[in-house]
Amino acid sequence: MFEFVRTMDNSADCNLCGNCVKTCPNNSIRISPRKPTAELWGIKKPKTEHAFLAAVIMGIVFVQNITMLEIWQQILDVISKVTQTTNYNVNFTVAFIISMVLPIGLLWVTAKLTARKETAEKVKENFVRFGYAIIPLDLAGHLAHNLFHALTEGKAIWFNTFNLFGYKITGDLSLTSAGTVQIMQYIVVVLGLVGSAYSVYRIGGRASWKKLLPYYALMIVLGAANIYLFSLPMMHRV
Ligand code: SF4
Repeated sequence: MFEFVRTMDNSADCNLCGNCVKTCPNNSIRISPRKPTAELWGIKKPKTEHAFLAAVIMGIVFVQNITMLEIWQQILDVISKVTQTTNYNVNFTVAFIISMVLPIGLLWVTAKLTARKETAEKVKENFVRFGYAIIPLDLAGHLAHNLFHALTEGKAIWFNTFNLFGYKITGDLSLTSAGTVQIMQYIVVVLGLVGSAYSVYRIGGRASWKKLLPYYALMIVLGAANIYLFSLPMMHRV
């Protein structure tokens, strides 16, 4: 709605319903495959809200993972000392906000470091343009996290299906070992890191690595944080 296909330069608001392709009387609209991440560095008008969301999603990935680690309870204990309450919702909200603010702050600092003229406009411009480069790592983090659920709880699908028809089947839910899942998670995160680093390179107009070093460093920090979290033993929430 309110989108004009001829003027669209990204697919953020497209759900691939295919209606434009099917209804064009001149058969002039087509869906073209592009290089992975190409959309991130080809956007003519990057939007602040997209850059914020990209950074926030990284925080969400961290929270998703941390709540499944043994240290989660210790983190809640520390927060409860500050908030003076043991209310889970309050303490979770505090942890959630910290986790959101962290990547936003890191991106902002990086944007400031690379703004030669440190005007607020230039910092904001860098923040918005390079925020898009976090998206491959966001996607990788989510995929890697959900690989854990899919591969270590996968058999629940047919156990529950059989239970529906009155056949009670129980047992180990995992489709593969935790070690295999971890290796797959590392591979996915490394691919995301490569995608983010390449997006930095293209968004930065193929500038020298020295000029873009702070952004590469940011992507490495975020990628390393993900790999560290996936290296810790995870527990199922239920
Ligand atoms: S595929 Fe559907 S959502 Fe995407 S641009 Fe065409 S009509 Fe719009």
